[in-house]
Amino acid sequence: MNNEIKIASTILKKSKFTIAFTGAGISVESGIPPFRGVHGLWDKYDPKVLDLDYFDSNGEECWYYIREIFYDFFGKAQPNAAHKVLARMEKHGLLQAIVTQNIDNLHQMAGSNVVHEFHGNSNKLVCMKCNEHFEVSEKNLNNIPPLCPYDHSILKPDFIFFGEGIPPVAYQNSFEAAKKCEVCIIVGSTGEVTPASYVPHTAKQHGAYIIEINPESSLFTNSITDMHLPGKAGEVLAQLENCIFE
Ligand code: NAD
Repeated sequence: MNNEIKIASTILKKSKFTIAFTGAGISVESGIPPFRGVHGLWDKYDPKVLDLDYFDSNGEECWYYIREIFYDFFGKAQPNAAHKVLARMEKHGLLQAIVTQNIDNLHQMAGSNVVHEFHGNSNKLVCMKCNEHFEVSEKNLNNIPPLCPYDHSILKPDFIFFGEGIPPVAYQNSFEAAKKCEVCIIVGSTGEVTPASYVPHTAKQHGAYIIEINPESSLFTNSITDMHLPGKAGEVLAQLENCIFE
């Protein structure tokens, strides 16, 4: 592994455009479990609370769970070593963009500036009727379900639910970055969620070198990954950073 870290750091130093594609795994060391797998969030909660059709007719019920998962629980999480290494890489010109499937805002909290949020963000609420956006506040989370002050419809978190399309700007920016990157670092993603997983595939099709950081194998590992660094995101990225700057 040490040798591979050295090779990866040389590749990263040479690259003129590198992106990171991140999934739920990067936030596991911040205490946020993934959705799938053993101890995943779907072990405890029913995914229907994030189904757009179900939410449309059962908004109040859904909001009790949504508040518990995404605000009481996710809301307390802090960026971990992996988020911080990626932010420092951006600052040093070693990382040009992050495409994240996560909605937890931890990349921005760590200091990353160029973050394409493929699935939106939990920090804002949106009215599906008038399309107004509102910052999440204690006030609107204290009164479940939060209502739009203009038309009194139930507000929805501004991340995508099952059955919703990808935010167009994030979609376009993510694929543009994928097409021009020389290296794509995949961190903590199963590759099972589409169309997000097409981002690293697009990078590969356009000639990028794919480095994958994940303690387990994923759908990427035996298809597009050039170098798999098995291990936790925080630990592997810290080793990579040490090697880059030594
Ligand atoms: P996912 O595709 O995001 O995969 C999680 C992956 O993380 C797995 O491959 C697992 O092996 C890996 N992993 C676990 N611990 C890790 C660690 N310490 N370091 C690196 N990798 C690690 O799977 P999902 O959870 O089913 O996600 C479905 C969708 O929901 C994705 O879009 C995901 O990003 C999103 N989601 C977001 C959050 C968040 O915002 N933090 C949390 C859960 C799910």
